[in-house]
Amino acid sequence: MATEEKTSAKAEQNGNQVEGQISEQLGIEVGDTPFSLELSQDQKDIREWAHGFAEQTVRPAAHEWDEKEEFPWPVVQEAAKIGLYGFESIAQFWADPSGLTFPIVNEELFWGDAGIGMSIFGTTLAVAGIYGSGTPEQMVEWVPQCFGDENDVKVGAFCASEPDAGSDVSGYRTTAKYDEANDEWVINGQKAWATNGGIANVHVVIASVDRDLGSRGHAAFVIPPGTKGLEQGAKVKKHGIRASHTADVHLDDVRVPGSCLLGGKEKLDERLAKAREGKSAKGQAAMRTFELSRPTVGAQAVGIARAAYEYALDYAKEREAFGRKIIENQAIAFALADMKMEIDAARLLVHRAAWMGKNDKEFEAAEGSMSKLKAGEVAVWVTERAIQILGGNGYSREFPVERMHRDAKIWTIFEGTSEIQRLVISRAISGVQIK
Ligand SMILES: Cc1cc2nc3c(=O)[nH]c(=O)nc-3n(C[C@H](O)[C@H](O)[C@H](O)COP(=O)(O)OP(=O)(O)OC[C@H]3O[C@@H](n4cnc5c(N)ncnc54)[C@H](O)[C@@H]3O)c2cc1C
Repeated sequence: MATEEKTSAKAEQNGNQVEGQISEQLGIEVGDTPFSLELSQDQKDIREWAHGFAEQTVRPAAHEWDEKEEFPWPVVQEAAKIGLYGFESIAQFWADPSGLTFPIVNEELFWGDAGIGMSIFGTTLAVAGIYGSGTPEQMVEWVPQCFGDENDVKVGAFCASEPDAGSDVSGYRTTAKYDEANDEWVINGQKAWATNGGIANVHVVIASVDRDLGSRGHAAFVIPPGTKGLEQGAKVKKHGIRASHTADVHLDDVRVPGSCLLGGKEKLDERLAKAREGKSAKGQAAMRTFELSRPTVGAQAVGIARAAYEYALDYAKEREAFGRKIIENQAIAFALADMKMEIDAARLLVHRAAWMGKNDKEFEAAEGSMSKLKAGEVAVWVTERAIQILGGNGYSREFPVERMHRDAKIWTIFEGTSEIQRLVISRAISGVQIK
C-alpha cells in the first residue's frame, strides 16, 4: 500500500473509532441507519417499466393527441393491456410501504406526456374520492368500475369544482336531498372543469346536504354508470393538457340509491350532528386526504419539468452560435444547472411527503402541499427556461418544450392553486387563520 493510501486508511479507521465512541456515549446503536435515499430494486424495476411505456408509446403519440384535443382512448387501452392502467396495478403501487412507487410511476408517465398522462391517471382522482370517504364494500364495488378492464376500458371522474366555486369549496351550490320513502338521494347542480366529466363510467360528485354548514355539510356520492339526469356540459378548450378531457357536468334530478352515499348515512348523520354542535369533526381528516394526494400530483409536475430539462440539455449540446455550442456559454449552462437543481429539490419534497403520508407521519408544516407547490412552480419555470434555451425553435409546435410549457401551467392551478397551497402551509406553520 502506498504511504498516502495507508494514511487515509488509518484516518478512516480512527474516524470510525471516534464515531463509535460518541455513539456509545449517546446510546446510539452503531449500524442502525434507517435513513436511505436509495430506491429498492422493485422500485427501480417499476420505474424502468413505466419509463419504457412512456418512451415507446406515450411520447410518440403526444403531439398528435395534443393537436386533436381528443381523449386518447387507444393509448389508455395500451396502458391497460400492459397492466399500467387498472385497479390491480394502482393497488400494487399504493401497497409499497415507502409510499414512493406511485409518485415514481407518475413522474415517468408525465415525463412521456402530461396530456396523455392525465388521461391515464385522471381516473385516480375519482378513486381517491372513493378511497377517502367510502366503506371497504363501496371501494370493492366502485373502484374496479372506474377502470373497466383491458377489453373494455373505462374512466372515472371526480366532480367537486363549480362555475362559481373552485378554491372556495364552501361555496358549492350542488345539493343532495334524501328521499326517505325511496331510500334515494336526489342531486341537482352543475359541476365545472371535471377531468373525464361526462365520458366517465363512474362519477364521484361532491354535493351539499346542508348548505348552512358550508364545507362541513358536504358529502360524496357515486353516480353509477348510465344514471339518468347526469349530462356532460360544455367541453373545455384548453391551454394545455389538451388530450385530457375536461368538461362541465350537469346534474338534473339525478336519483341514486342510498348506498351511493360514500361512507353511509349513519356516518354522515353523526358528522353533521357534530358540525351542528360546532365540534371539529371532519376538518383534520379532509386536510390529511389532500396532504396524501398532493405529492403524487407534484410528481407529475416533476416529470414534465424533467422532460423539458433533458430536451434543453441535449439541444444546448448540439446547437451552435458564434462558432461554439451554446452550452459553452455560462448563461445557458448555469440555467441548466439551476433547472436540474430545482427539479431534484422538488422531487425530494415529493418523496418526503409521499413517505410521510404512507408512514402516518403528522404533516406539521403541510409538507404534502409544499411538495405540490414547489413541483408545480418548478415545472412552469423549467419549461419556460427550456423554451428560452431552444430560442425560436422553443416557441414552435414542432418542438415539444412549447407543449410542455403549456401543459405545466395547470399544475399551479388545479388540485389547489399555488396561493391556496401557501395558505395551507402558512396556517400550518403559524397556527394563525391567515386570510
Ligand atoms: C384542466 C383542469 C382540470 C381540472 N380538473 C378538475 C377535476 O377533475 N375535478 C374538480 O373538481 N376540479 C377540477 N378542476 C378545477 C380546479 O381545481 C380549479 O380551477 C381550481 O381549484 C381553482 O379554482 P377556480 O378556478 O374557481 O379559481 P378561484 O378559486 O376563483 O381563484 C382565482 C384566483 O384567486 C386566487 N385565490 C382564491 N382564493 C384566494 C385566497 N383566499 N387567497 C389568495 N388567493 C386566492 C386563486 O389562487 C386564483 O389565483 C380542473 C381545472 C382545470 C383547469
